Formats: sequence, structure tokens, C-alpha cells
Amino acid sequence: MRHFNVVVLGAGGVGKSALTVRFVQDVFLENYDPTIEEAYRRILDIDGVKTSLEVLDTAGAEQFTALKELYIKSGQGFVLVFSLTQEASLRELDNLRQQIHRVKGMDSDVPIVVVGTKLDLVTEREVARSTIQCLVALWKIPFYETSAKRDWHINDVFQELVKQMLIRYPDE
Ligand code: GDP
Ligand code: MG
Repeated sequence: MRHFNVVVLGAGGVGKSALTVRFVQDVFLENYDPTIEEAYRRILDIDGVKTSLEVLDTAGAEQFTALKELYIKSGQGFVLVFSLTQEASLRELDNLRQQIHRVKGMDSDVPIVVVGTKLDLVTEREVARSTIQCLVALWKIPFYETSAKRDWHINDVFQELVKQMLIRYPDE
């Protein structure tokens, strides 16, 4: 079975832990400790092909620290998370994307998926779908709108990432 390291990155409070815990344990935790940084494992079955994933749920909205650089080095696939209810969290993503490319090398084709969270909070939404679509078209990165609370499109995110990683890292 193939094994991949996935790193979940994004601003504080956007729902990284909720997304990760929904994916690996299929529960929604309302108040997850924002300082907990933990790696989880799950086997994902895509059309009968099983892949083992280690998902690192990062914490802290720190700048470009040595630790973060280490995470990026060890990661093979990245989930860049922002909240649909917080415009500023979307702007963070461009920094993260550039940091990944700096660490991995500008020419390397890094598997990344962009995720907008809290799709269920309809009345609090701040980011229009068209705004995101412009950005991800520019970056050439797949994008999903999700809700960890309602379990909407969470598996799709990781399936897409696994597909990209299988192409990027064929039989190692
Ligand atoms: P993190 O700091 O990025 O890990 O964010 P958390 O996962 O701890 O989530 C921050 C807050 O947003 C918590 O109060 C969560 O309950 C809430 N939250 C996360 N995802 C969702 C979601 O899909 N829907 C709703 N309504 N709230 C969410
Ligand atoms: Mg967290």
C-alpha cells in the first residue's frame, strides 16, 4: 500500500482541526484546542485502491518558522484551508502557497488542494465563489467548498489530493 504525508495549513480558527478530525474520525468537534498539533492516520479507498495517509493538523498562525519549513519539507501533499466566513483567511493562502514553492523548489509540481470551510454558515459568508475561482484558476489548484459540521465534501478533498500525489510520485 502506498503511504503519503499530508499537511493541513491555514490561518488560526479557519477549521483545520475540524476538517482533519471529520476526515479521520468522522465526528465534528465544536471546540477543539487551537494549540493542538497532531498527526492522524487514515486509509482511503479510491475505486478499490487503498492509500494510507498521515495527516498533520498544524496549529498556530506563526510566520515562516523553522518548524513550518520542516513540515513543508516532509509533506507530499498540502491542504490549504481558509474560511468562507473570513475574507482575510483567503489572503493568507497566497503566502502559504509561495512558502511551499520556496521550500519544495519553484519548478516542482506540488500536489495542493484549496479548501473553503464553514459552507454551512450561509449568512456569515464573506467570500464569493467567483473570487476564489479567479484565484485558483490563476494558481491552477483544485478547490472545494466544505463543511466539517455537516460533512459536506470532506472526502472529496483528500481523494483529489491522493489522485494528484499518485501522479506526482508514481511507484516509489
Ligand atoms: P483551526 O484553528 O483552523 O484548527 O480551527 P478549528 O477546527 O478549531 O475550528 C475553529 C472554530 O470553527 C471552531 O469553533 C469550530 O467548531 C468551527 N468550525 C470549524 N469547521 C466548521 C464548519 O464546517 N461549520 C461550522 N459551523 N463551524 C465550524
Ligand atoms: Mg486546530
